[in-house]
Amino acid sequence: MATRRYSTAAEIALYYTRQTAYQPECKQLSVQVRKELLSKLEQVILARRKDIQEALFQDLGKAALESDYAEIFAVISELRFIQKKLGRWAAPTAVANNLLFFGAKAYIQSEPKGRTLIISPWNYPFQLPLVHLAASVAAGNTVILKPSEFSEHTNRILAEIIAEVFDPQHVAVVEGAVEETTQLLALRFDHIHFTGSPAVGKIVMQQAAKNLCGVTLELGGKSPVFIDRQTDLSKTCKNIIWAKFLNAGQTCIAPDYALVDSSLKEAFLAQLKEALITAFGTDPKLSKDYARIINGRQLTRLKTILEEELAQGTQLICGGEVLEEQRYMAPTVVIPTRLDRRLMQDELFGPILPVIFYQDLAEALQIVNEREKPLSCYIFSDNKAYVEQVIKHTSAGSTCINDAVIQIMHPNLPFAGVNNSGIGQSLGKFGFQDFSHQRAILQSSPWVRMSSFFWFPYKERTKKLVNLLIKWF
Ligand code: NAD
Repeated sequence: MATRRYSTAAEIALYYTRQTAYQPECKQLSVQVRKELLSKLEQVILARRKDIQEALFQDLGKAALESDYAEIFAVISELRFIQKKLGRWAAPTAVANNLLFFGAKAYIQSEPKGRTLIISPWNYPFQLPLVHLAASVAAGNTVILKPSEFSEHTNRILAEIIAEVFDPQHVAVVEGAVEETTQLLALRFDHIHFTGSPAVGKIVMQQAAKNLCGVTLELGGKSPVFIDRQTDLSKTCKNIIWAKFLNAGQTCIAPDYALVDSSLKEAFLAQLKEALITAFGTDPKLSKDYARIINGRQLTRLKTILEEELAQGTQLICGGEVLEEQRYMAPTVVIPTRLDRRLMQDELFGPILPVIFYQDLAEALQIVNEREKPLSCYIFSDNKAYVEQVIKHTSAGSTCINDAVIQIMHPNLPFAGVNNSGIGQSLGKFGFQDFSHQRAILQSSPWVRMSSFFWFPYKERTKKLVNLLIKWF
């Protein structure tokens, strides 16, 4: 059992003071030194692989293999990618001049933002804190990391790994819940990276506004899946089962609900049930690959939503079993009778898949557009026109066509929400840029200072020049 101990107010104040004092030195860390730190982090993670798997199993019942690819590999690949590209990302980028700036040098220089705070959720408690930490360290910042209070076993390993690689004046872990986070948010950071619910995201943004501190918000939402009649139904159903029930549905970009062409109704439900049995057997609680719900509170929330629905006539297609002592909820598929209850209003963040059958695409689009802009949108169709229609008439942080969830693994795509599902961009180059200030630098031409055209006193030739600018530039 991990013993729970939250950081004290004095510890938080000490980390902050030490990181503030270390700022001037931290900003001067060369790209080489930053890369060496990230490389050391990579080595320590690989050396602790078994401990990480064990901790994730205790917190979320994750299969070791799932921890390997969805947590450890996700961090390792990000660390390797950053090390490979950092030199290029951190180098000044020249931009083109127009005629007015002939002979001048214009470029963008990434500079560290300074003191950063990273706040993480519990669903990918190893991967999420570390990929953002890697971006912040790569950008040359100090980091205070506040993991979720609900993933205590993983937090312990995380804190040990970080302490082995970094001095706390550079990177420190603060453990705690609302009180400790509130204390952190009262401090003046230069950037806050928050991953969690939209409700807490608003609190973070309000606190950040007091210091005009930059924020990145990686939030959640109800991510829809569109299923067209022109699709390979067998593959699509397997795809949905994996994406939805990975980590027992506790994935921010998991499909939240499915919108299916009504002509597919019987075939879709039959294939979905078959895919579920192929994935987890006839009794999923016996499957070693099926994860558990993080805690009793989340399980009760999900159970209540399901009970409310079933009491209102929602049709249970499969699943529904809940075992409190095991924090188990079976993969559950339902057909709701109405869309105005919690099932179709709140982000589910658990193993319940509502399926809605639509008569025409406009109806499905309306259901999506009546809700907040989601983190992701999935489209299963071999019809180009259908795909284009969905993209054109919806908005989402990311979109994946004929697959789901894996868009997050692409090294050159940003990871981000839009409005209620997030602000700012993460991962790869986008993460580095988000944790950096893009400083605009202009060095005047050695022959002529451009502003001399406007120097006082204004003359007739100034007027002519301005008229020329208005006409031609
Ligand atoms: P949460 O918002 O409850 O908590 C996130 C963090 O905020 C935790 O560290 C928690 O201690 C802290 N916190 C909670 N209440 C607070 C308060 N009142 N004041 C200050 N800090 C507070 O989210 P969660 O339950 O940990 O995670 C689930 C949510 O996270 C879902 O909405 C999910 O979609 C989202 N999520 C998003 C991403 C993404 O990358 N976009 C990834 C994972 C999870």
